[in-house]
Amino acid sequence: MKKVFAIAFIFASFQLLAQSNYWQQHVSYTIEAELNHQNHQIKGKEKLVLTNNSPDTLTKVYFHLYWNAFQPGSMMDVRSRNIEDPDPRVGSRIAVLKPNEIGIQKVMSISQDGKNLSLSERETILEVTLAKPLLPGKKTTLALDFEAQVPVQIRRSGRNNAEGVDYSMSQWYPKLCEYDKDGWNLSPYVGREFYGVWGDFDVSLTVDTSYMIGATGYLQQPETIGKGYAPLAKPYSSSKITWRFVAPQVHDFVWAADPKFVHKKTKTADGIDLHFFHMDEAPLHKTWDTLMTVMVKSFAIANRKFGQYPYHQFSFIQGGDGGMEYPMATLMVGKTPINSLVGTAIHEKMHNWYYGILGTNEAKYPWMDEGFTSYAEDMILREIQGGKGNPLNAAYQAYFRMALSGREEPLTTHADSYHWNTHFSNGSYNKGSIFLHQLSSIVGQPVLDQVLLKYFDQWKFKHPTPQDLKKIAEKESGMDLEWYWEQWIGTVNTVDYALRQVTQNPKSGQTELVLERVGRMPMPVDVEVILEDSSKMIFTIPLAAMQGSKTKDVYDGPLFSCTPWPWTHPFYTIEIPHGNKKILSIQLDPTERLADVNRKNQSWPWDKSSTTKGQMLVQPASK
Ligand SMILES: [Zn+2]
Repeated sequence: MKKVFAIAFIFASFQLLAQSNYWQQHVSYTIEAELNHQNHQIKGKEKLVLTNNSPDTLTKVYFHLYWNAFQPGSMMDVRSRNIEDPDPRVGSRIAVLKPNEIGIQKVMSISQDGKNLSLSERETILEVTLAKPLLPGKKTTLALDFEAQVPVQIRRSGRNNAEGVDYSMSQWYPKLCEYDKDGWNLSPYVGREFYGVWGDFDVSLTVDTSYMIGATGYLQQPETIGKGYAPLAKPYSSSKITWRFVAPQVHDFVWAADPKFVHKKTKTADGIDLHFFHMDEAPLHKTWDTLMTVMVKSFAIANRKFGQYPYHQFSFIQGGDGGMEYPMATLMVGKTPINSLVGTAIHEKMHNWYYGILGTNEAKYPWMDEGFTSYAEDMILREIQGGKGNPLNAAYQAYFRMALSGREEPLTTHADSYHWNTHFSNGSYNKGSIFLHQLSSIVGQPVLDQVLLKYFDQWKFKHPTPQDLKKIAEKESGMDLEWYWEQWIGTVNTVDYALRQVTQNPKSGQTELVLERVGRMPMPVDVEVILEDSSKMIFTIPLAAMQGSKTKDVYDGPLFSCTPWPWTHPFYTIEIPHGNKKILSIQLDPTERLADVNRKNQSWPWDKSSTTKGQMLVQPASK
């Protein structure tokens, strides 16, 4: 036991050294809030202990007041009514909200270590000037009183959602804005992504006894609540009860409440409690019971492939307006066929890896949470459901449509700045998931699997950036990958490799292939050659810029590494040593992991439908 501890300590120290310049802020929230379900209003007190781990002195702090976005004329409302392809869930719905339907979040007063502070509210951002500057390494206590009105549900948060759930309570409290190495993160809320400060939550919610609550965090007094958490010790003595939840090491807190919620529980093989909350309607019992079984499997795969889930609990809660991730929980629509219910649940659950635990700045790098989550979702679904071919095929097809539309924006675009909703989604989810799947073709799948586990171990409970992941990928693969990060994230360059010529070398009698890089984006290329006896040869042509070549991948047989192809050279020649056997077929990128926008020019015998065939100077073997 001691030895293990010592080794773990040395390892942790090395990790600390490797990230010695890294720091992040810390906050402890204690929130007490009471919900009046007659007028949908909340009154609350919030105490925050903020530790300034930055090297800078802070004279101000800022809070998000997200619900103020759900008011006619807000930035979110006007943006939604002007964007070319509005989200139909928002459209012009905010513009017609009545005063008793809008969202309101108001900080009534705030003090620092007992001294009252001045505050300035600007729609969804509150600026607070500190009475005493907060020095590096120091703590301060802020205490505030807030009042809020739960909006009629427009996006994610709110009351009376389309499936009849009373309260979907996300972004419901004044939430401290994050200060990181780039400064304050103060994007006004217009409906897309989030970023929070790492810390601990102690939340007490007082509601009518009729409500069932599902939430982030561990319920502290289950025996006084009952309701499926534990046997009830004694009957409620008043019309309201207080639920106290504690959530350590998270960056947000969600809850949902409805009197018609049924609460079911199961456990994963390694003892994580899974809670399920859905409306008490007959068809939902069947689909949600199936969901419980699949989620147990899904946790086992995720823990093995993407890193061990570190909390003891996760809650799947019917609520919101699609699926949305929160630490230790998700709000998701519940009245949907089992296949889409499972897909949504796996996606939202995997966000606890890519968002919840690896807390990237979603506004700056939405592709790192949406994309990586989508990759994990597709890989887990493939393992659960089986199947052949590229597990991310749908993502590739959607990406191709965007890449060829001429409307693609690079992944470096801030989430709020994407001009089209469609291409924000397509970029973040699809191009973001292809980022990893294509990377597996560069470094080899076994190396990518290791990269993702190392990334999880080194950056859990932190805010990793794209460069942090790149460093790990370079170390694990022994390759230089700057070109890939730069091209795939920073440009809209596309991949297109073509097989141009198949000829016989008169001296060796062997077959020579000429390949061409047609797209602007360079990539290493795998070539599969099938001989007349059905035996296969796989060649991998690394890019010179990689300074290395993969040695293992998904292929059954050996992988022959060729001389590197410099990206400056449009053409590349490779000789296939097939001896006396004839060649049946040749295929570039046989696993289709490259996001090659034209796959009709990369096989031999030539694709009949292709308009850009190569020269056929060798006859293929007859089948
Ligand atoms: Zn997502």
